[in-house]
Amino acid sequence: MTEQTEQDEKLFKDLGLTPEIQQAIDEIGFEKPSPIQAEAIPELLAGHDVIGQAQTGTGKTAAFGLPMLQYLDPANDEVQAIVLTPTRELCIQVTQALRSYAEHLDIEIVAVFGGAPIRSQQAQLRSGAHVVVATVGRMKDLISRRSLVLTAARFVVLDEADEMLDLGFIEDVERILRMCPSGRQTALFSATMPPPIKRLADTFMYDPVTISITPKTLTVDAIEQAYVEVPGRAKVDKLIEVVKAEDPEQAILFCRTKLGCARLERDLKNRGLDVKALHGDLSQGVRDGVMLAFKNHRCKLLVATDIAARGLDVDHVTHVINYDIPNSSETYVHRIGRTGRAGRTGRAITFVTPDQRRDLDQIKKDVKASISEWEKPEDRIEHARPPRRKRRGEEPAPLDEQPAVAVEEVEEFDEVVEVPLNNVDDETGGDAGTGDESADIPETADGAVKLFVNRGSRSGIDEEDLRWALREGAVLNDDQVSDVRVLERFSFVEVDGDVAERTVEFLDGTRLKGSGIRVEIARS
Ligand code: ADP
Ligand code: MG
Repeated sequence: MTEQTEQDEKLFKDLGLTPEIQQAIDEIGFEKPSPIQAEAIPELLAGHDVIGQAQTGTGKTAAFGLPMLQYLDPANDEVQAIVLTPTRELCIQVTQALRSYAEHLDIEIVAVFGGAPIRSQQAQLRSGAHVVVATVGRMKDLISRRSLVLTAARFVVLDEADEMLDLGFIEDVERILRMCPSGRQTALFSATMPPPIKRLADTFMYDPVTISITPKTLTVDAIEQAYVEVPGRAKVDKLIEVVKAEDPEQAILFCRTKLGCARLERDLKNRGLDVKALHGDLSQGVRDGVMLAFKNHRCKLLVATDIAARGLDVDHVTHVINYDIPNSSETYVHRIGRTGRAGRTGRAITFVTPDQRRDLDQIKKDVKASISEWEKPEDRIEHARPPRRKRRGEEPAPLDEQPAVAVEEVEEFDEVVEVPLNNVDDETGGDAGTGDESADIPETADGAVKLFVNRGSRSGIDEEDLRWALREGAVLNDDQVSDVRVLERFSFVEVDGDVAERTVEFLDGTRLKGSGIRVEIARS
């Protein structure tokens, strides 16, 4: 070993692969093995069972695929190896990868998965398959139809085992394992190692070597992380606010359930956002179309369940939004690892309802990352300058520079009431004093001033909430408030002229029922 490298970095040619496989690797352009490959390939070539734990995108497919291909005998027409995958997408992805690695080998690799005609898969199996890459359900089906026998399957791979567990396939996986020869070699790959997977390994693997790659520079370091606390019913509005403020190039929005995923897609579509969903209730054709659209940048936002998004190899995701907080810290790391790839910085934003604060604290502790409260990108800069003050009696700004918000203008924006208001801030906030817009406040006949609030019933706000805010937040007596009117997307309140400024000052930029609110003098 020379000491040129910091760690003793291995090369593919050090791993004991055949020239045919080495040639394919060279042609694909892999320069050196990833850590999991460097460790797993020699073990698997030596015939050991291997448990490989590593995050998505670490090169697990080649880690098991290359030694598997090397193990096969092209002259033997039996199914000598199987790879079990949790989803159709992964099944196809793995098959394509294996075929590229087998470019210079006389090896047939057949993919079998649900949602496609079983007949053509049966035909493919009949015409010879050395390797079968399968989803669990379809493999079971083919076995029960006697289209597939596993008596010669001496190399078995369980890919993304934790996902198979989550999908409820573990018993089926065990059944399939029992049909394979007992002298087989088994490789199990998983991003996480929950107890049932450990038990499965204990029962079905022979003296396995465990390889665990916990990247020192866990990708999360390159990811700016924030959280948003919001009550459940205000989540959609808040999400739209966050998405608009963040303006991602591409974002994945994670939901826990298929149903939640479908619902969120619908809600976002209804608000005019460019969104597609990926979850298990969609037909296979639709899922393929969605994947392709997202990969080819024909769609900005992807709403997905953990399972559907698992293993997807997508670059350029600038944002991961945990619309539903993940159910474990491992899942958190796994989800947010979808952004900040290839040296780019990414942003991860996690939504929590008030009763999920503890879950968030646990994640913070486990991940040892700072996850601070989300702020609008422009607010992050604004904090650097002094707050805008409004003083009565100073020179009024010319009328046409007054940035008050006209209702008609607001109506034209679909759910982007914040936008005109933010522009207001941008124009006036920087040089307080020169353009004091509150100097001539339009008063109604009885001396009350109408204020505009950029939230309404859709944010779960009702009249009582606003009255409470005026009372508690702006310290007004009930008789200083002459009218409160809540509309769908915004509200108006009328307060006594001499407390109008104070109300704006005290309430603008605060939170009400989880939503940040903007309060401005409304122009009549
Ligand atoms: P995992 O299964 O761990 O999520 P994959 O096997 O899908 O990871 O690989 C992720 C990506 O990395 C793929 O695009 C693959 O082609 C690429 N890749 C794998 N091994 C290497 C390597 N040694 N060098 C460069 N790229 C690699
Ligand atoms: Mg994989």
